[in-house]
Parts: sequence; structure tokens; C-alpha cells
Amino acid sequence: MAGKQIPREISEAVYARDGVCLSCARPDARQVHHRVQRRDGGHRLSVCIWLCLWCHGDVHANPAQSRMRGMIVPTWADPLVIPVKTIWGWRLLDDNAHYTLLQPAEALPIIEQEGLMF
Ligand SMILES: [Zn+2]
Repeated sequence: MAGKQIPREISEAVYARDGVCLSCARPDARQVHHRVQRRDGGHRLSVCIWLCLWCHGDVHANPAQSRMRGMIVPTWADPLVIPVKTIWGWRLLDDNAHYTLLQPAEALPIIEQEGLMF
């Protein structure tokens, strides 16, 4: 059972990997966004990303659009399989604070196959 508090080693690893808001590159007002609801996904590094306060609000205000960007991963999908669309392009995150860049032609079929399109 994942606690509400994000372990410090997780937030430090997310910060070291992302550094700025992944959606708009703002360096300040950072928050840890959970792509999977905490009670289902815990604080895994494939789940946690840095977003600024404003982009974080946008993600939760527009859940359908956020699923298409991999910002929100439903419980039926695996965050290790679902790439996230950042300001620098699509990234596939692992649980070791690394990521792989994907081309849109690689990322979009995954989003579609996993049922994350409208
Ligand atoms: Zn932002």
C-alpha cells in the first residue's frame, strides 16, 4: 500500500531525471504528478513525473486529452508500456529513472492499441 507521502529518494530521482516541467519546461512551481492514481500505482518512477503547478492542473482538468498524451494511465494499462508526450517528444519511462525517446510513429500506435484514444 503506497503512502500519501512521496519518498524523498523518489522525488529526488524524478527531479534528477526530469529537472523541469515535462509539459512546458518551466523550472519552477514543480509538483510530482502520478500518471496512475496513487492507490493503484504507488510512487514508481515510471508513474511519477515533474509538472509545474499549472500543467498539473491542466492534466487533471482534461483527463481524456491527458490519456491520449500518456499523462494519465488507466488501471488497465501498464505505465512501463505507455509513453508520455513531453515538450521534447514522446518518452517511455522505466522504474530506474531512465527513459527512451520514441518517434510519434512508434508512440501513437501504442496509445491506440492500449485503448487510450477517445
Ligand atoms: Zn508546465
